[in-house]
Amino acid sequence: MKFFKLLILCSSFSLAQRVDKDLEAFRKVENEVKNNLTEEIIKINDNFFMIKPIKGVAGNIGVFISDKGLVLVDDQWEIIEDLILETIYSISKKDISFIINTHFHYDHVDGNKAFGKKGIPIISHENVRKRLKRKTKLYGHPQHNYNMVQDKYPDFALPTTVYNSTMKIYVEDEEIQLLNFGPGHTDGDTIVFFKNNNVIHAGDSFVTYGYPYVDLNDGGSFSGFINVLSQIIAISNEQTKIIPGHGPVCNVGDVITLKNILQEHYDITEKGFIEGLSVEQIMAKIKSELQGPGNIAKEDFITNIIYDLKTN
Ligand SMILES: [Zn+2]
Repeated sequence: MKFFKLLILCSSFSLAQRVDKDLEAFRKVENEVKNNLTEEIIKINDNFFMIKPIKGVAGNIGVFISDKGLVLVDDQWEIIEDLILETIYSISKKDISFIINTHFHYDHVDGNKAFGKKGIPIISHENVRKRLKRKTKLYGHPQHNYNMVQDKYPDFALPTTVYNSTMKIYVEDEEIQLLNFGPGHTDGDTIVFFKNNNVIHAGDSFVTYGYPYVDLNDGGSFSGFINVLSQIIAISNEQTKIIPGHGPVCNVGDVITLKNILQEHYDITEKGFIEGLSVEQIMAKIKSELQGPGNIAKEDFITNIIYDLKTN
């Protein structure tokens, strides 16, 4: 009996160890966020603000102010709940009416654990809820041994309303469009278009840090990513303010530039892959190159496209 108990103890101990090891990379990023992150407030117009994180991996938060309350797009991290609330409070003293999640990655929706607990409704594409319900290993740039595991989220942190391809929410005279254009950054991305304010929050479907990350473990697709950029361009005009998942507020010209560069990379890589060229040979044929603070090099980006072509 004693031996049996000891066995159970040992096996549950090793399980706990294993779980902790899986989440090591996540805890490291969370810790950096806790210790270093500060927020900058960017005013887009009288009713619309962006909360931009400085130092630390976190997505931009969109804040729409209506007479009735605030609508947030993405909510960063639970661990900086007080900082987020303090920052929001300095923009407006109104309550948060609801939150929209642009996709399921931890640096955009971990705050669901803080805000969901308070009973604030959360809206997303249906695949966000599906993916948050289980532990997930994000696509890891095989060449870099990157190993980010995102833990299963508790029930109170899950979206309370989900949609499939499009959804419209009316808040006073604002029409908020939630648009999913199929696989792209993940398989559950939402482009959030505040029509009257002419503001788009693109989540990680549009970023400014250099070569974008596509989560090939979670339904992402390179051709899909480029298609989503085309769709953002199609619904924008020259005055549209576009909030990227990470980086400063942009306009449609910035999205067109990124789209054209990625298209060139994709087309030449696809052709080279079919012809059996090496990554070096493909690289030499691509004239453009993206610069930025991100950690994906041109060579990695091409390798990732090839991985996508091989597996999908
Ligand atoms: Zn992401």
